[in-house]
Amino acid sequence: MERGYPCDNRRMRRLVFVGCGHAHLMALRAFAGARPRGARLVVISAKPLVYYSGMVPGWIAGHYVRSQCCIELPAVIRAAGAEAVFAEAGGVDANARWVCLRDGRRIDYDVLSINVGGETDNSCFQDLGSRLLPVRPLQQFVEAWPGVMARARGKGGFRLVVVGAGAAGTELAMAAQHAFRAAAIAAQTELVASEQGCLPGFDATVLALVRSRLLAAGIVCHDGPAAGSAHGVLLADGRVLAADQVLAATGARAPRWLTLSGLALDAEGRIVVDRCHRSISHPDVFSAGDVCSRPDVAMAHSGVHAVRAGKVLGSNLLAVLRGKAPARYRPRRRTLYLLSCGDRYAIASWGRWSAQGKWVWRWKDWIDRRFVDGFQRLADPALAAPYDGR
Ligand SMILES: Cc1cc2nc3c(=O)[nH]c(=O)nc-3n(C[C@H](O)[C@H](O)[C@H](O)COP(=O)(O)OP(=O)(O)OC[C@H]3O[C@@H](n4cnc5c(N)ncnc54)[C@H](O)[C@@H]3O)c2cc1C
Repeated sequence: MERGYPCDNRRMRRLVFVGCGHAHLMALRAFAGARPRGARLVVISAKPLVYYSGMVPGWIAGHYVRSQCCIELPAVIRAAGAEAVFAEAGGVDANARWVCLRDGRRIDYDVLSINVGGETDNSCFQDLGSRLLPVRPLQQFVEAWPGVMARARGKGGFRLVVVGAGAAGTELAMAAQHAFRAAAIAAQTELVASEQGCLPGFDATVLALVRSRLLAAGIVCHDGPAAGSAHGVLLADGRVLAADQVLAATGARAPRWLTLSGLALDAEGRIVVDRCHRSISHPDVFSAGDVCSRPDVAMAHSGVHAVRAGKVLGSNLLAVLRGKAPARYRPRRRTLYLLSCGDRYAIASWGRWSAQGKWVWRWKDWIDRRFVDGFQRLADPALAAPYDGR
């Protein structure tokens, strides 16, 4: 257990959540069951809904409608007894304890929790211009995808290149190819990995299973570094892959505005947190998900860890508001990943164990739906109370 955050019970304290990704969804759930006395909660989110990334490849493949993959935030925020501010945060001053919004408003806090995810690092692909579509922000990606399908329908021999062959890029490539096939669109999908190859960090058996599914789907894979050019995707051997559309799933980096926050950041700009997910420089600031980094433990940036850490984050925020000590989040050594393969088929990976089949897809489908349904059940037509600036 860690040192408690000094609690001044004499006045109302304001806890501000910035961003509402996987981690804060879980944290807000903790507040739905327990309202801390003397605390006022404010949730700042760029949008009033969030897409559940695990279901996006399934939506692209045509297994879900869009509303099944998204969570409406007003109901979740309301259930937590919080006020909603649907605006983009543009900065934090951790010494002066305020968050500024892009529209110029400023919100003071006593305790701050940051969960804004990451941005796609597509700096090497800018020369592609309008043909480049980053997978993050996820909402913009989801909104743009129907346009990609429409263009593919209208052009014979459409060429889609997915750069980045981590779990997200690999799943998206297979989902897109499945969607093209299902719609009888003559299109070719290619997948470009980094020099680390496909699915870095996964066991070799999982990689072999995925490679055989990519092959079966007719997706050509290229290993090695790549960059965007005016003509398409430039590979290290000098070849250029012609592309009508390039999806960039090249990994997430922290938002740039954090560099001015005064918070301790790692070399990649992520907020460095301790084992309780509290900033190592500012004990009144907490963070979880892709935007933070834990130097004490090896932990992948994934939805799985964001969700699990988010649960602990919720209890920790409640604890500090009550003047109690926060607890640590212990990431498990092995993490279960269920990779969808376009059709209703998936590959499971858990350390060195792996499995595949339609049953794995049904398993993933069940887990994903249960996660989203848990929040959708909170749906209430009444919107969360708007923040009145006081
Ligand atoms: C297509 C795809 C599939 C994936 N599948 C899986 C999977 O199956 N399993 C897995 O473990 N991981 C998966 N991932 C990775 C996973 O999505 C991320 O690791 C996870 O979303 C990180 O969650 P988070 O809590 O950090 O924030 P996020 O869920 O990324 O959410 C951040 C939120 O903050 C908001 N926000 C951002 N900036 C601001 C701002 N300035 N002001 C206010 N709000 C802001 C955003 O609108 C967003 O709602 C996938 C990723 C992608 C792209």
